[in-house]
Amino acid sequence: MSKKSIEQIRAELDSLNEQMRKKQHVSDKIIIARNMHSDFMKTQVAGANNPMYGTDPWNKGLTYNTGPNSLKAHPNNKFGKGNIGKVQDEEWKRKRLEKIKGPHMIATCPHCKKEGGERIMKRWHFDNCKMKN
Ligand SMILES: [Zn+2]
Repeated sequence: MSKKSIEQIRAELDSLNEQMRKKQHVSDKIIIARNMHSDFMKTQVAGANNPMYGTDPWNKGLTYNTGPNSLKAHPNNKFGKGNIGKVQDEEWKRKRLEKIKGPHMIATCPHCKKEGGERIMKRWHFDNCKMKN
């Protein structure tokens, strides 16, 4: 098996890109912008030019919840802390429930006389009713 040359790989990638473009209806402008950004990232901020070059990631060496280096206890770990200990306002809770439960407008289908919530009844009844005609 012979190794593919860079030109071959480029040609394959170009044809793949072309297929993707046709599939997703992406305009040429977006493709050009994407390629420009890609080139920029590859040349201008790669390696030592990257601001994070040579720095360790904040979670390096941390395990999730065991040991002295616990990720849970780390001040930089914000995952899953958003709603912990947050007390929900009672009125807000009630309003939210009301929105879900209703009351909804009750509509009656003129063809089969069935009653139900206005929004969903429009899907299967009125002009779309089985009994219509
Ligand atoms: Zn009906």
